[in-house]
Amino acid sequence: MFSLDKIIRNNVKSLKPYASARDEFKGREGIFLDANENPFGSLAGDGMNRYPDPLQRSVKEKIADWKAISTEHIFLGNGSDEIIDLLIRAFCEPREHNIIITPPTYGVYSVYAEINDVVVKKVLLDETFNLNVDQVLDAVNEQTRLIFLCSPNNPTGNIVPRETVINIAKDFPGLVVVDEAYADFSEQPSMVHLLNDLPNLFVMQTFSKAWGMAALRLGMGFANPDIVKVLNKIKPPYNINAITQELALKAMDRKSEAADWVQQIILERSDLAQQLRGLDVVKNVYPSEANFLLIKTTNAKKIYDYLTGRGIIVRNRSSEPGCAECLRVTVGTKDENIELIASMKEYSENLNP
Ligand SMILES: *Cc1c(COP(=O)(O)O)cnc(C)c1O
Repeated sequence: MFSLDKIIRNNVKSLKPYASARDEFKGREGIFLDANENPFGSLAGDGMNRYPDPLQRSVKEKIADWKAISTEHIFLGNGSDEIIDLLIRAFCEPREHNIIITPPTYGVYSVYAEINDVVVKKVLLDETFNLNVDQVLDAVNEQTRLIFLCSPNNPTGNIVPRETVINIAKDFPGLVVVDEAYADFSEQPSMVHLLNDLPNLFVMQTFSKAWGMAALRLGMGFANPDIVKVLNKIKPPYNINAITQELALKAMDRKSEAADWVQQIILERSDLAQQLRGLDVVKNVYPSEANFLLIKTTNAKKIYDYLTGRGIIVRNRSSEPGCAECLRVTVGTKDENIELIASMKEYSENLNP
């Protein structure tokens, strides 16, 4: 059975968090002599002399409306990457506890585990990139605190079915983290709606992909309020800067434009997949519910180098388990995709031995 109390690190449990000036006084009006800010103003723009809201209340209210969830269920990170780091630091004792990941998958989970000196257990996906629930549960031991599942998965593009998440979460006494960075491009509904049934579920989404805000660094975590409280306790006090908060509020008034982009990318994705399948240097285009395609080629390194020489940058994923000779290609604009196909045809006709 899941018990949050049992998986929080002792030092985190006993930690008295830093109380910022803006934690003590929450009003917006007044003479602010509490935070040693510049009283005249800012060289960077109106209001930029003031520290931002440490708990991002306005942004969370707007996200809460949009996702039909309460603000206490929301944690915001400086990118989802910060949330990954904080989860590991909150729940994993260095050199003692472990996390489980399912390669080929997003590299950041193991990087942050390694930075925090936390053991990474790997349960490989099968040849069609699906995961086996029993294998994941068999890898769990007393020291396992987090299982990271990525859906749709980067770099493979396929989803983790809802039943798989439920079956793992029900049998695991730690946290199941479902990374939904690419959920906007998928037909499968978000797992956020399972939070009431699964107390140990943590869902991550981001403004970096469909919303076109990678530069601003804003990731969302959705979980039960007690889990959110643990992360609030250990996060850097002002982890989301004022510009990011301001621009996120504005962006959320333009949801239909993001939805239009997503529709265009989904259409382009299927066009691009079809064109790639027609090339003799492409042996397989894996089905994708994300904004990229994983393709198995005759020679990933040569094609990668050729494309780079033509100014087209893709990602070589060949060194990932199960991804020999695979490239990951982000779906671009129609023109960008046409250029990609033209260059790959050229490679195929002139240089493919
Ligand atoms: C891109 C990506 C993210 C997003 O990270 P941010 O830090 O929010 O930009 C998270 N998870 C996966 C699997 C990704 O591919």
